[in-house]
Amino acid sequence: MTDPAPTLDRDPSVRVRFCPSPTGSPHVGLARTALFNWAFARHHGGTFVFRIEDTDAARDSEESYQTILEVMRWLGFTWDEGPEIGGPHAPYRQSQRYDVYRDVAERLHAAGRAYHCYCSTEELEDRNAKARAEGRAPGYDGHCRELTDEQVAAYQAEGRQPVLRFRMPDRAITFTDLVRGDITFQPENVPDYALVRANGHPLYTLVNPVDDALMEITHVLRGEDLLSSTPRQIALYDALAEIGVGNGTTPRFGHLPYVMGQGNKKLSKRDPEASLLGYREQGFLPEGLLNYLALLGWAIAEDRDIFSMTEMVEAFEIARVNPNPARFDLKKCEAINASHMRLLSVEEITERVTPYLQSAGLVDAEPTAAQAALLAAAMPLVHERMNKLTEAADMLGFLFVGEADLVRVDEVDEAGREVVRAAHDALAGLPDWTTAAIEEALRTTLIDGLGLKPRVAFGPVRVAVTGRRVSPPLFESLELLGRDRSLSRLQGALA
Ligand code: GLU
Ligand code: ZN
Repeated sequence: MTDPAPTLDRDPSVRVRFCPSPTGSPHVGLARTALFNWAFARHHGGTFVFRIEDTDAARDSEESYQTILEVMRWLGFTWDEGPEIGGPHAPYRQSQRYDVYRDVAERLHAAGRAYHCYCSTEELEDRNAKARAEGRAPGYDGHCRELTDEQVAAYQAEGRQPVLRFRMPDRAITFTDLVRGDITFQPENVPDYALVRANGHPLYTLVNPVDDALMEITHVLRGEDLLSSTPRQIALYDALAEIGVGNGTTPRFGHLPYVMGQGNKKLSKRDPEASLLGYREQGFLPEGLLNYLALLGWAIAEDRDIFSMTEMVEAFEIARVNPNPARFDLKKCEAINASHMRLLSVEEITERVTPYLQSAGLVDAEPTAAQAALLAAAMPLVHERMNKLTEAADMLGFLFVGEADLVRVDEVDEAGREVVRAAHDALAGLPDWTTAAIEEALRTTLIDGLGLKPRVAFGPVRVAVTGRRVSPPLFESLELLGRDRSLSRLQGALA
């Protein structure tokens, strides 16, 4: 928050990256990071790079990769370089870039910016324990920084394979975080760290900054959990510039606040409200979910919660991101989604609910003309009451199934049976099957004739016809259902 807001926002040289590791099911933290990077890139008219950090074969999966792509598309993100579209720095999957990393690692070693470390895990642990006991900071102690040729030969004779370790400079590292202001790390807290495993496998510590350098990333916006790796990366950038990897500029960093879940603990991948696929399944609108995620650390204005992504892009400033942890509030997320539902026209909602009705088996993959007509007629009855897209299946399901498939969530009770019988008889002989005629017949018979209160009169009819106590407006529903099906359902409820 220390940097003044840029006076001239347009800056096509801006290049940001979203670089998830494909492990597990994509979660809301991931989407929030993607969103802030994307909004930042679009705000400045820069480039949004999408890169896959899949160098951890034990944890990464193709399924997770595919799901991330699918979720990114569902949320409506567009990327300028990355999977499936390529770009000037292709490939954008790190698993296809091992040659690059091997080459850079060798050059860092040759330049003396990294060195071979032969320490075994046990030796490292022993020395760490000793450091703790003596009140010193644990972490690598520089043991192998200046090994003699004899020492190296002796380790090799033992058959030890070295890791490649980065030689941290012996000075404090300060940088201005775009969200948090000036941050300084003292050298004793940032020990030399491994870049390449003993088996030759490059680590995140190497591949992430190397690709940021090669892809000429100007701004790194990512979660606060990565803050402690930033001084190491800044030092590595200097070394990369020295050996001619990238264009020599260090990106600016902005660390986005933690997202806290239940009980004020960090929202974890395993929390059910963290799953992005879950939101799609539950019928959230992508624009509703994104609007909510934008509020996890940012605000468009005081007292304003609802906005479009276009409005967000226009207004987004990284300096106005709040460094304090954000609380994930499912209720608020649902309320914001509901507001976005209200913003859609009935035609748009109809289009959006169709896949949900299809996967519920209510509408054919290629909707029949009758189904399309029924849907077009029914949606105006419910679209203003819907908070999520899945609710269409609950509210309108009764229209799309035959008698045998009607799910009766509620049943007509004993007292209601009389009413249903009377309703059936009143409707059986109706000449015109229109909403107005249906209403008139039922009112005359049930309210005027039997002297019932409207709720007592129409409740059982509703349950008989729709299988639920809550449904779209009753008379309209009966019209849409048609005479034959309505009468047979009234009868069916009596059976
Ligand atoms: N692949 C890393 C992660 O998912 C990216 C870290 C970063 O943005 O630098 O945590
Ligand atoms: Zn060592």
